Amino acid sequence: MSDTIFGKIVAGEVPAEFIYEDEHCVAIHDISPQAPVHVLVIPRKAIPKLADAAEEDGELLGQLMLAAGRVARQLGVDDAFRLIVNNGEGAGQTVFHLHLHIIAGRSFAEGRM
Ligand code: C5P
Repeated sequence: MSDTIFGKIVAGEVPAEFIYEDEHCVAIHDISPQAPVHVLVIPRKAIPKLADAAEEDGELLGQLMLAAGRVARQLGVDDAFRLIVNNGEGAGQTVFHLHLHIIAGRSFAEGRM
């Protein structure tokens, strides 16, 4: 566990609606959505940021991607979604408990990240 807000959410210490959960992770709607669909996939294991992941986390990282696909299917956006990981303050990371952003429901046609 970590003492970040996401550590508290996965531990059940801070209430949140899990729209998906499995043994590896939970998914919640982002509190400040940047798109019509903006979901966070949060591993139960507290890894501060992607660059801190170790070899032994390889399977977990794969499971997070699989979970993201499942959540996208569940929300009906599996044809068009973007998966984002902000790594480090300079990249805009604000919560230092690894998480994937699923962004969908807006146009990606203009090519911006
Ligand atoms: O990648 P980054 O660390 O910037 O993302 C953190 C995300 O967590 C933000 O999109 C923010 O809106 C979201 N958040 C949340 N619930 C909280 C705190 C942050 O959904 N209680």
